[in-house]
Amino acid sequence: MRYAIIGAGMAGMLAAIKLLERGCRDLIVYEKGHTIGGTWRENTYPGLTCDVPSHSYTYSFELNPDWTRTQPPGHEVQAYFEAVKEKYGLEEWITFNEEVVSCVYQHGRWQLKTASGRQDSADAVIAATGVLHHPRYPDISGIDAFQGAIFHSAEWDHSTPLDGQRIAIIGTGSTGVQLVSALSTRASVLTHFQRSPQWIMPVEDRAYTTHELARFKNNPDVLQSLHYDEELESNIERYTAAITNPDSEAMQEIETIVADFLAMAVTDADLREKIRPDYRAACKRLIYSPNFYQAIQRDNVEVLVENVTRIEAKGIRGADGRLREFDVIVLATGYKPHEFMRPMNIVGSNGTILNNVWRDKPVAYLSISIPDFPNFFMLNGPNGPVGNFSLIEIAECQWAYIEQLLAELETGKCQEISATQQAMAEYEHARVEQAKKTIFASGCSSWYLDSKGVPATWPWTRRDFKAAMQKPDLTHFLTVGNAMNRP
Ligand code: NAP
Repeated sequence: MRYAIIGAGMAGMLAAIKLLERGCRDLIVYEKGHTIGGTWRENTYPGLTCDVPSHSYTYSFELNPDWTRTQPPGHEVQAYFEAVKEKYGLEEWITFNEEVVSCVYQHGRWQLKTASGRQDSADAVIAATGVLHHPRYPDISGIDAFQGAIFHSAEWDHSTPLDGQRIAIIGTGSTGVQLVSALSTRASVLTHFQRSPQWIMPVEDRAYTTHELARFKNNPDVLQSLHYDEELESNIERYTAAITNPDSEAMQEIETIVADFLAMAVTDADLREKIRPDYRAACKRLIYSPNFYQAIQRDNVEVLVENVTRIEAKGIRGADGRLREFDVIVLATGYKPHEFMRPMNIVGSNGTILNNVWRDKPVAYLSISIPDFPNFFMLNGPNGPVGNFSLIEIAECQWAYIEQLLAELETGKCQEISATQQAMAEYEHARVEQAKKTIFASGCSSWYLDSKGVPATWPWTRRDFKAAMQKPDLTHFLTVGNAMNRP
């Protein structure tokens, strides 16, 4: 079988490594960028840090003794993936600077076209195109008139000076919070525009000592115990249990921690009330930060809780009518999260067009397979677990599941495999009903919500997710033909 993997980020690299491990030598990875890394290649903003602990944000088969901090800085994550690419010789299999623009199922094979006009075909496609990669630009009047530097957090302009500059950060997601923390000590003036203040979860982010680093290098058991840290595992289980049951004790515990942190860390009562969210903790993705509250209490930092509606040549006109002048405006305004592989034109069997199937919202059986799109599998596809735990772990679980479907094809049990319409409909119905009960639906805006306001996430616990990924129920899949009859 010939495989095409789309995307050489964390998930695409995983698929390539695993296929090579299975002995597959007929595969190609298409990557639109100039190197691997996906989100970690694209995001290079100051303060970029992964909020999942370093040793958890690591492939289970490639533990990393070299993480220098408990929370990995973005550049170290990118360096880690580069090192994995080298070790597994992935360069040989990846075609860079080739964006797949079309993927059409014809005569039992996927026909691919790239932006440069290259054509290819494959028996199976693995879409590993990521979730958050289409920056969302805010619709703010006058934005084009600004004479200073203005850019989205995912498109950082490294030629723009920051030290001693007057900087505005728009947005209070994980990105805005990390940016404010990092730039508050560098800017002469930093103004943080928070349309919706966020609950902040305290987290330790410290450098490992030389003694610890030596232990990681010399003792694989120590590394292993950090990767599967029992305390962290039980915290994650508790966290996902809390998300799925907003009335649980576990949820109350989270609410107490973040409320106490706000009370303790923000000493000015006016500021404290100004930034107190009016929705429940974890309704939006929970933000972990060791130093954000400290940053916003610096003398050079101002917090404005408002929607930015007017940018002018010299700065931002606030709700108070005052023009604040800036040298740099950063749009930490997030992403369009429901695009996935699009704008790629994807056409399944019988001419089924993905854009039509996904007109209302992206759906996939267990986030992995779409009816009428045979032998097309997604890693980190729609409605998956996007809470505060490692997407690497999630992708590994999904791969273990996909591999079993591939085995059906490889061993000749069938020629085509995709979820049945019935399995898709039943799964999506159950998912939506449960999603409406999660904390994400408790009354806030967030990128987790679909166009109807329903959380586009895996709504059960992490344990449930792992159980679901153990073994495909083949009665939920439509299998066609016998691969032995392949022409
Ligand atoms: P985000 O969570 O979608 O946040 C976007 C922010 O921009 C929100 O605060 C939003 O306000 C605000 N905004 C949009 N338009 C605005 C306007 N006109 N005026 C004022 N504010 C405006 O985006 P993100 O921070 O880039 O994070 C997205 C996701 O990326 C995270 O949830 C996380 O999954 C991932 N991420 C992860 C890490 C990590 O450490 N692992 C780091 C960064 C990002 P509203 O809330 O009112 O809409």
